[in-house]
Amino acid sequence: MRYIYLDHNATTPVLPDVLEAMLPYQREAFGNPSSVHHYGRRARVAVDDARDAVAEVLGAPASSVIFSSGGTEANNTIIKGVAQARREHGRHLVTSQIEHPAVLDACAALERQGYEVTYVPVDERGLVDPQAVRDSLTDQTILVSIMVANNEVGTLQPIADIACLVRERGILMHTDAVQAFGKVPLSVDHLGVDFLSFSGHKIYATKGIGGWYERSPAVLQPLLHGGHQERGRRSGTENVPGIAALGKACAIATGDMAAEDERQRQLQQRLEHGIRERIGDVRIQGEDAPRLSGTSNVAFAGAEGEALMMSLDLQGVAISTGSACSSGSLEPSHVLRAMRVPRLYLHGALRFSLGRATTADDVDYVLDILPDIVAQARSV
Ligand SMILES: *Cc1c(COP(=O)(O)O)cnc(C)c1O
Repeated sequence: MRYIYLDHNATTPVLPDVLEAMLPYQREAFGNPSSVHHYGRRARVAVDDARDAVAEVLGAPASSVIFSSGGTEANNTIIKGVAQARREHGRHLVTSQIEHPAVLDACAALERQGYEVTYVPVDERGLVDPQAVRDSLTDQTILVSIMVANNEVGTLQPIADIACLVRERGILMHTDAVQAFGKVPLSVDHLGVDFLSFSGHKIYATKGIGGWYERSPAVLQPLLHGGHQERGRRSGTENVPGIAALGKACAIATGDMAAEDERQRQLQQRLEHGIRERIGDVRIQGEDAPRLSGTSNVAFAGAEGEALMMSLDLQGVAISTGSACSSGSLEPSHVLRAMRVPRLYLHGALRFSLGRATTADDVDYVLDILPDIVAQARSV
């Protein structure tokens, strides 16, 4: 059977060059970067080189990049760590209704500790209004956290505009850039953010590696205490193979970012136009908003997304319904609800997320099999 993977927003395969780059650190170069002997020094060089590669993607100094176990840990450290460090200044945070659970649930945990959180809404296109963020700020606000690119629908938020309004009030600005990192240009100075989270396994590195950028080191209480690795911001022996993988993945991403973005943009149009030509009553989420080129969230009126996903899976096509995290539960996605997607479409949404290996042939195969699958799901 032909297998087609169109779920790159959930995770990506490790690229062969990335695997090559990390293997020495699983084998002979296994040293602990904190060790002073040559094993340790070789591992330290790998960590330093990878930090440079990440910093280059962000236009940031290498010293502002901290490695962690991934995007979830980065989001939790920043949100809880700022809340902890700034609790004498205020106990109010602002985020949006369409954030990843690693942001929403970290905020919910703070609410249980007595912090107040404002969840700013989005419009039908899935965009946050910078003025709505500004209107939500109070004397108590210590942190605003709004994502760059949404993982379910791919919409790109006006982070630079939002950050400008936030920082003009002396409030810290965080952005979860996990889905945008390595896919669109991200300069921390242009964005004007104080913190930015990223992850390796969404950009063809391995699972369990990621990190964050921080502008000023003084405002964060670390989550993990121990051996003072990562300048004391994140203790624990470094995941050297993962860090080497992330560094290589960053170098590859910077090498052809614009070309790969354009290539996936054409595939996205081929997919979306093709679906519209062949199938009636479809709704493409965030169609008119600035969007990632690889993400298409398409809802089919009167069909059940889970049934569509399962039928596609039987024919070798891997996609997801809503977010990977809410797959398996039949609750409609919080993102689609926040976008006020009409009830008729709410349960019939599929997320196609394209990647480096996706070809026009793959898209055409999906377009061939999808009309029958949708017709069948609608007849149930
Ligand atoms: C995947 C993802 C995360 C979580 O990152 P992990 O490295 O898997 O913990 C956070 N935010 C967004 C937007 C994501 O897509």
